[in-house]
Formats: sequence, structure tokens, C-alpha cells
Amino acid sequence: MLDAQNVKKDFPIFSNHDDLFYFDSASTTQKPQAVIDSVSSFYSSSNANIHRALYKIGETATDAYESVRLKIKSFLNVPDTHEIVFTKGTTESINLVSNAWGRKHLKQKHSIIISEMEHHANIVPWQMIAKEKQAKIKYIPLNENGELTLDALNELIDENTKIISIVHQSNVFGTINPVEKIIKIAQESNILTLIDGAQSVPHFKVDIKEMDCDFFVFSGHKILGPTGVGVLVARKELLKSMDPFLGGGVMIDEVTMNESTWNQIPLKFEAGTANIAQVIGLGEAIDYVQNIGIEKIYQHEKELLTYCLQKFSEIDELKIYGNPRHRGGIITFNIDDIHPHDLAKFLDTDNICIRAGHHCAQPIMHKIGKSSTARVSFYLYNDFREIDYLCESIKKTISIFK
Ligand code: PMP
Repeated sequence: MLDAQNVKKDFPIFSNHDDLFYFDSASTTQKPQAVIDSVSSFYSSSNANIHRALYKIGETATDAYESVRLKIKSFLNVPDTHEIVFTKGTTESINLVSNAWGRKHLKQKHSIIISEMEHHANIVPWQMIAKEKQAKIKYIPLNENGELTLDALNELIDENTKIISIVHQSNVFGTINPVEKIIKIAQESNILTLIDGAQSVPHFKVDIKEMDCDFFVFSGHKILGPTGVGVLVARKELLKSMDPFLGGGVMIDEVTMNESTWNQIPLKFEAGTANIAQVIGLGEAIDYVQNIGIEKIYQHEKELLTYCLQKFSEIDELKIYGNPRHRGGIITFNIDDIHPHDLAKFLDTDNICIRAGHHCAQPIMHKIGKSSTARVSFYLYNDFREIDYLCESIKKTISIFK
């Protein structure tokens, strides 16, 4: 186990609040001082626009920004830095693919396969482009454990299937999906794959080369980085063949009154002034995670998950949704006769932060017959003591409602 009390010392939010019990890292993570300092130091020491300034601080800023591409290449084993595009987050990355790839390649009767387990960010962009192109969306169904029923995938695939877009780790059940298997099945039929890594990259080792997907996306703020930065990793030849998503500065080669030509990848997809400070902050966050070790973080969360599942099983009124065999540190649940919003509000009086709602995954809520649930999610700064405190606070809330 990691020494969470020690880890917490790196995160100023925990010293700025007496006893903050933060169980909502699947929503966004807290930020280490090093990340906050890197953002602040960029603005105070080398603030300048990138890829254009011909003076020293501009070069420093450009180097700092571009060095994060190299960090991501090494952290995720991406074949080439040209395959790494900075975006605003997972949501924008998927919209980039659905617009820039989808608008060009999807036609009437084509189909897109997603699953019943997706976050809205991996549903709505596909619905929008499918409507425009009169394409179809098909869903891999969920079983009662909150796992994908892969047997159904072969029946969903036909000659019109163009892309399979799947979440790596569910933000509701914590299910870690067998994406390697799905990618192999897709490749046998020449179908592209997109993997939503919003909940995987921060929590366990991801190797893009080994995974061999066509598109991979994640958000900086869920891996200790700033908000407003995310990543799309895509095969070089795909990025080259796609039209731009947003037009403007940086993404062009030449602009005349009548038409424009495009910059090389990845800048072809980074129109306008980038989120420079946020990208630099993301680089610092990746350094922080690598210094601790992603495998240690994974093991730490696994122990927290096992402990919390055991503790939750001792509370009769608590019902957990999903029981996937392969899962990360996320538990979704409800308490008999207590609305999850009421539960969250009561826990908040004990300085406990949990998520309550539909978790931006309404099709899952529909499937389990609930409009909302409560959710706890763990990260490297949580420990057993906090889980004990959480369980005591839940029991106290139950006794108030009795
Ligand atoms: N996919 C998954 C699985 C997520 O958990 C989230 C965030 N909750 C997103 C996509 C969207 O991420 P963002 O809001 O950072 O774009």
C-alpha cells in the first residue's frame, strides 16, 4: 500500500481543509503542489504564445509544451509524437474523431458500435454524426454484473460496421473491459477502434503500441493535471487522411482569400492558441504519477476496493450495482429508502465528498432501473481509515432516516 497520509502532503487541498474525505476522483482528481506550481511558474516565468514567438521566452514556452508530447509518448508507449493531439479533454477528443473522421468516412447505412456502458461523451457525439449521415448506432449489451457481453459483438458486426468505440474502464461499475480482445475482433473485419481511456490512464498501465487501437483518448484533470487539457492519440495515416476539426491559426499551411491548406499533423488539429499552461501542468502530473509508479497506484486502489467492498457488504441497507470480475477503484451503490442526493448531502456534513446522480451515463441508469445512484471512487491519496469513516457516516445517515 502507498502511505496515503504522506501522499496527501503533496496536495495542498488536504492541508487547506481539516480532514477532507475525497471519494470523487472519477469525476476529477485533486492536484499536487508540483502541478499547481508548474502552471503558476509558466505564467510568471515564460508566458508567451507557442509555435510563433521568435524571442527566448516564446521558445521556452514552445519547448515546454512540446516536451509534454514526448512525455506522453513514453508514458503510454505511443509509436510517434505526431500521433499525439492536445485537446480540451476526452469529450473534445471524441468529438474531434466523430467530426473529422466521421463526417468524411461515415455514410448512410454504416454502423457505429458502442456499448450500454458508455459515458455520454462516447454516445452523444456519435448520435450527432449518425443523425447527420443517416448511419446507425448499435450497442453491445451489459450483463447483470456490469460487464460487456462480448458474444453479442459478433452478431452486431456486419459489412457496414465502420468503428467500435468503447470505454476502457467504466466510470459507473469500474469494469475494466477486455479492449485488446475487442480490438482484435474489430481488426479481423477491418473496423476501426476508439478506446475511451478517461478512467484507465490515471489508474493502470496503458500501452498504446501493444493495445493497437486506432484512436485513444483521455483527460488531464483525471490524472492529477489541470482542467482544460486532454489528449487524442491516433494512427498517423488516419490523422493525415482526416479533415481538420476546427479551423483557425496554427492548423494551416497557407491561407488565401479563397482557400487554405493544412499544417502537418498533429498541429493540423490544434487550431488557435493552445491551453499551454494546462499542457505543461499535465506534463508535471505525468511526472508525479511516474515517480510514484502507476503499478503501485493500481495495487493501492485494488486494496482499497477490496476493503471497501467488504465494509459495504456489512451494511444491510446498502446495495452495490455491478459485480465485474475485472474492476478498478469505483463502486456505485444506493441505500434503501435514501435518495442518493440526500445521502451525498448528509455525508458532506462530515466533509465526505461522494458523487450522486446519473454519472453522465443515463443508459446505464435506465438499464439498472434507477434515475440516480451514489458513487465512490479512489485514488492514491485515499486509505482504509477514510473508508472506515465513510462507512460510519453512511450508518449514521441510515439511522437518521429510520
Ligand atoms: N469518459 C469517461 C469514462 C468518463 O468518466 C468521463 C468523465 N467523467 C468522460 C468520458 C468525459 O471526460 P471529460 O469531461 O474530461 O471530457
